[in-house]
Amino acid sequence: MKEILLTFKRLTWFFKANLKNYLFCALALLFVSVMPVIPTKVLGIAIDDIVMGSVTIDRIILYIMGLLVIPVFIYCVNIYYHYTMNKLGQDISYKLREQYLEHLFELDSSIYEKYTKGDLIARISNDLTTVSGLATSFLQNVIYYFVTIVASITMMVVINPILCLVSIVFMPFAIFILNNIRKRKRQYYKKHHEIYGEMTENVLESIESAKTVRAYGMEEEDYKKTKTAIDNDTNSWWYIQMFESLFVPMFELIYAVAYFIAIGLGTYMVIKSIISPGDLVSFLLYVGMLYGPLIGLSNVLNTISSINIASQRFFEIMDLDTEVHDVTNPLNIMKFNEIKFKDVNFKFPFDDFNVLSNINLTIKSGETIGIVGPTGSGKSTLIRQLLREFNISSGTILIDDIPIENYKIDDIRMMVGYVPQEHILFRRSVDDNILIGNPKASHEEIDNAMTVADFKKDLNELSSGEHTLVSELGGSLSGGQRQRLSIARALVKDPEILILDDSLSAVDALTETNIIKQLKETRVGKTNIIVAHCFSAIALADKIIVLQGGKITDIGTHHELLKYDNWYKMQYLIQIKGDNHEEL
Ligand code: ADP
Ligand code: MG
Repeated sequence: MKEILLTFKRLTWFFKANLKNYLFCALALLFVSVMPVIPTKVLGIAIDDIVMGSVTIDRIILYIMGLLVIPVFIYCVNIYYHYTMNKLGQDISYKLREQYLEHLFELDSSIYEKYTKGDLIARISNDLTTVSGLATSFLQNVIYYFVTIVASITMMVVINPILCLVSIVFMPFAIFILNNIRKRKRQYYKKHHEIYGEMTENVLESIESAKTVRAYGMEEEDYKKTKTAIDNDTNSWWYIQMFESLFVPMFELIYAVAYFIAIGLGTYMVIKSIISPGDLVSFLLYVGMLYGPLIGLSNVLNTISSINIASQRFFEIMDLDTEVHDVTNPLNIMKFNEIKFKDVNFKFPFDDFNVLSNINLTIKSGETIGIVGPTGSGKSTLIRQLLREFNISSGTILIDDIPIENYKIDDIRMMVGYVPQEHILFRRSVDDNILIGNPKASHEEIDNAMTVADFKKDLNELSSGEHTLVSELGGSLSGGQRQRLSIARALVKDPEILILDDSLSAVDALTETNIIKQLKETRVGKTNIIVAHCFSAIALADKIIVLQGGKITDIGTHHELLKYDNWYKMQYLIQIKGDNHEEL
């Protein structure tokens, strides 16, 4: 119970913002739960009148009011109620979804190591819908069921207290026993949520990797794996349904007994003239009116427990905090003169070893810097420090002699245009994909960006030039085209610092050299940081940093580094001997 109140509290902002709607809905709900007792009563009166032959004009007006006007009125109020509630439901789902996504964007990348994509999706779909239920159907059910039960029982007592007591006294006990059966279902709910998350993850993986799966002839294996996950979900759902399907027939059985007693004792009372035949009909109808609300109320515990679980899962993500925060009164920054890494050590949150050790490095504004080193040596980790994804473990990164933490995080990220190795293209046209870098870019700026990124030549090959639709995973473009498109996207942002993180791996050496040359020429006064494999291209850099095992082992120009035996020279010699990697 405490948990559900907590969830209520977390949604208070929504209730407050829609207070007027909720008040009207509560009134409407009271109306539709109390009013139905009237037509039932009028029907009883009508039957008595017919039996006694005492139908008058006044009575007929009463029948029309009670049996026609009121039901139509109830119907209209019901429409208003459901319309408003559905709208509120949509509204809260939308707002929660928005908050969740915004929060995901704010969180550190480390959450993707702790939670799978499927799990995160399950939380924003299934769990979120259940939580939204608290602001809509849950309230409705509790008020509606409760008021209907009270109103019906009151009318039954008015007809005859003894008949009422005898017919329904055992119902609470029966419901209590049946609810115990359902307890097992409730306990199982959390497990079901996990199985559902697993299934989502599996299906997602199958869709994402469809091409690779086909290429390796793994369809059958993948299908089996996904099918098992789906089967598990279905079985788990059936397990829950089983309790439900046990419950309803048993409840009906109890109901049959209630009717039996009511009809038996009721008829006896009619014969003994204790109640009228009309009263008996009304009474039986009231017993019937209890059916839905009783099942519903007995299900409230169930609903509460599933809302509690869903709410725990949903708000668990919402309560995650970012490790990287703005300090109070952060400094603004748009340009810089010098970035200095001083004895920087870095380890990932879930690791206990340093990925970067003792990094000392100066980046001057306007420089083009090359970073080389074996795979896994920490190149990406090093330059991503400028994106402020994580805090460094020790040492300092200074921008114009002030620690990077003192600057506004958004400002720092605005200064940087980061092009990762894995390009994310969106299901939009080529030029719209570029515009993501800077939605205000003019046509000329887009054109320039495409020239520098060497993408112009590709336009001729695309069916509708720059308006060609790119599929989500960039399927219609080659690896190299995707890389160059991503570079064009970063270029329209015209960032102070452009970072190409292995983003030229799929283009040929000549194109790579061309792009780097163009970058140096067109981005005068701006900084380029390029992680590359092709040494002839990187030779154009003002400074090359060699990273091995998380440590800087060499810094110098291409010519300086070739003067003595080292990793750089060795790799360079191997490359010029033969390798001239072709565009993928
Ligand atoms: P490079 O870019 O030079 O290939 P990375 O910077 O990507 O190397 O990785 C450096 C090391 O850090 C590797 O050992 C890698 O396994 C590890 N690493 C990279 N990303 C993460 C992460 N998110 N969490 C934990 N370890 C990571
Ligand atoms: Mg890398």
